[in-house]
Amino acid sequence: MRISQNEKLLATLILLSIFLIFLQSVSFKEYVSAQDSIKCYICGKDIPPDKLHELPSDITGERKFYCDNCFKTLPMCFFCGLLVKPGILPLSDGRHICADCLKNAVIEYKDVKAIYDEVVAISYRFLERRIKFVPPLYIINQKQYKEHKERCSGSKPFTIFDLGYYNCDRQIYVNGIIEARNPVICVIYGLPKDEMFDVVAHEFGHAWYFENCPPNQSEEIVEGFAQWVAYKEMIIKGDYNREINIQLKRDDVYGTGLRKFISIENSGGISAVLKYVKAQGYTR
Ligand SMILES: [Zn+2]
Ligand SMILES: [Zn+2]
Ligand SMILES: [Zn+2]
Repeated sequence: MRISQNEKLLATLILLSIFLIFLQSVSFKEYVSAQDSIKCYICGKDIPPDKLHELPSDITGERKFYCDNCFKTLPMCFFCGLLVKPGILPLSDGRHICADCLKNAVIEYKDVKAIYDEVVAISYRFLERRIKFVPPLYIINQKQYKEHKERCSGSKPFTIFDLGYYNCDRQIYVNGIIEARNPVICVIYGLPKDEMFDVVAHEFGHAWYFENCPPNQSEEIVEGFAQWVAYKEMIIKGDYNREINIQLKRDDVYGTGLRKFISIENSGGISAVLKYVKAQGYTR
């Protein structure tokens, strides 16, 4: 088939006008969204610029906007720090939880125990020997956690990271072998699943540590090792990238300790990490 010059010109013009219409529609959309006022994440009403409140999620960092009324009247989610929509019942100890966190919350003992069993089973794949005594697991509420913290750390303030703990009466040497007396693991119920796995794995890391490593090491080593155990568990389990990234970015001893153990592992493997924490001489 032969195409005349006129037909070619016509075709070019049609294509050009389609392209121009496309460009116009894109910039028109941008124009409309720029003119859109910001709506409240809870009630959906337009927010006047001078009454705008913004909160970041403690978990994802994502920012949400709220109107003055919602901001002043609604409670914050104990976990992510965003506001809780009306109509969502608080947990039985009074903690408010938002719909997103509630969707994944682990509430029942049996569900926390299933996570704990999985954490213990995964630990056999990278810790060089099985823990002799798997500490009993308890689920507690936030009030019980606060009481424990007051008893043990006195003036240290309660923070959003206080979600679980490992405790033993003391560490002793029996025939040259370290033993932890009466260890327990306690976690707050109602944490979203990823966080629950992370917290349980961290506390289990302490249990392994206090059964195998000499006492009086620095907080960075104690917490950093527990963080590294949780990190390994999450990598082996898979699907925990968001949680791993949160922990990797922390700038307290939990973050610096974790990064320290990752660099030891990168240069000498898992055995180098275990040798390091079991070595005498790394005392405060
Ligand atoms: Zn509102
Ligand atoms: Zn939440
Ligand atoms: Zn810890």
